[in-house]
Amino acid sequence: MEQYDVVVVGGGPSGAAVARDIAAAGYRVAILERDRDIGQPVQCSGLVTERTLAAAGISPEIAHNQLVGAAIHSPSGARYDIGGDRVHAYVLDRTRFDLSMMIQALELDVDVHANARVVDIDRERDSLRLTVESHRSIHEFSTRLVVGADGPRSIVAQFLELPPPVEVLRARGADVRLPARLAPDQVLIFTGERYAAGFFAWLIPLGRDRYRLGWGTSRAGSAQTLRNLTDDYPDIFSGMQILSQTGGLIPLGPRPVTSGERGMVVGDAAGQAKATSGGGLFTALTCARYCARTALDALSSDDFSAEKLSSYDRDWRADIGVELEHATALRSAYRELTDADLDLGLRMLRFRGMRAIVNRYGDIDYPSVLAARALRAAPSLLRLAHGRGNLRAFISDNAQSVVSASSD
Ligand SMILES: Cc1cc2nc3c(=O)[nH]c(=O)nc-3n(C[C@H](O)[C@H](O)[C@H](O)COP(=O)(O)OP(=O)(O)OC[C@H]3O[C@@H](n4cnc5c(N)ncnc54)[C@H](O)[C@@H]3O)c2cc1C
Repeated sequence: MEQYDVVVVGGGPSGAAVARDIAAAGYRVAILERDRDIGQPVQCSGLVTERTLAAAGISPEIAHNQLVGAAIHSPSGARYDIGGDRVHAYVLDRTRFDLSMMIQALELDVDVHANARVVDIDRERDSLRLTVESHRSIHEFSTRLVVGADGPRSIVAQFLELPPPVEVLRARGADVRLPARLAPDQVLIFTGERYAAGFFAWLIPLGRDRYRLGWGTSRAGSAQTLRNLTDDYPDIFSGMQILSQTGGLIPLGPRPVTSGERGMVVGDAAGQAKATSGGGLFTALTCARYCARTALDALSSDDFSAEKLSSYDRDWRADIGVELEHATALRSAYRELTDADLDLGLRMLRFRGMRAIVNRYGDIDYPSVLAARALRAAPSLLRLAHGRGNLRAFISDNAQSVVSASSD
């Protein structure tokens, strides 16, 4: 049986980051990854900020494209252009991104086992035993500590009996070729029941005639969404050729507890993606730092008790916990808006002042900053949320800046 100080289950960005940072201190670390190829299959649209690339230690040169703005389409088809002032986001090749992160881990002597699916975890006296299915045979690994970076259906979270995230969103996508001539540096957003009930759809330019289409939803099937977009926006989608399709689950609203005796979970396994957008790379890498720090502390003191590891929970929540809670509250309120509510709310973007606020405070990593500023500038938006408890909770959390300003 192979023995490690830490076994990380899952070879995505959060697993690679945690493994890299623990191995950098000289500990023996393994990554067990179910899939054969790191970074495949791609289940991501790859839209990130420069901050995310910095957290990953990867140069922006890896990106397919840079985006300076967005055009938001209301349910009834009105279009509002925002941004255009500076680079707001980068579009990644996720496979290259994941591989680059994995190389960082390999350079620090992390043992990476691909095609290795963890099927069981058991407690021994002073360690854990992981049973792994690989090439149709069974292998066993022994470890002092396990880190679950194993995505939405985390086996490590099940083993630690962690409570579930608030919601699991279904996201679908396709890389497409479009004959239409669209701005090469602007993401298009489509809102409304017909495209992405309770969420939104997006079209990201990749360069030349290639685009990445995606949508999150708990209802409409893929075929219906694509038909509706083509019917309603023929100037954009006529002649669309689908090159490849993808899809996956995004857990939103973090698990209330993300650690237990001899284990922690991070990234999608912990439900750390932003509930407003489903973006999970920045938050995963942020939390990975705290996860590695707690692991190093536990290893050096040989204390893997639930109490010791709970400092991970405290640390990541002190950093981005409030932001994730706000995002969850905003999402709950957003889900309750009707198409008519959305049409009305988005009309605020006709005003130059509101567009200036969006341009100044819009930050896909910290969406609640913009939400608070927008509500402060346009208290009438609160009327959309009349009787909607979650938005009221968000507002009361921001009471100083939002409610007092709205009654000015
Ligand atoms: C369609 C879609 C679009 C998205 N677009 C964006 C975007 O534009 N920007 C953004 O920031 N985020 C986006 N996300 C979210 C983002 O992809 C995730 O938040 C991110 O991948 C989380 O990284 P992770 O390392 O925690 O998990 P993952 O990248 O999911 O990695 C988990 C790994 O664990 C492995 N694994 C699972 N179970 C086991 C097991 N039992 N044994 C061994 N290995 C196992 C899996 O094979 C996988 O490789 C999108 C998600 C989807 C589904």
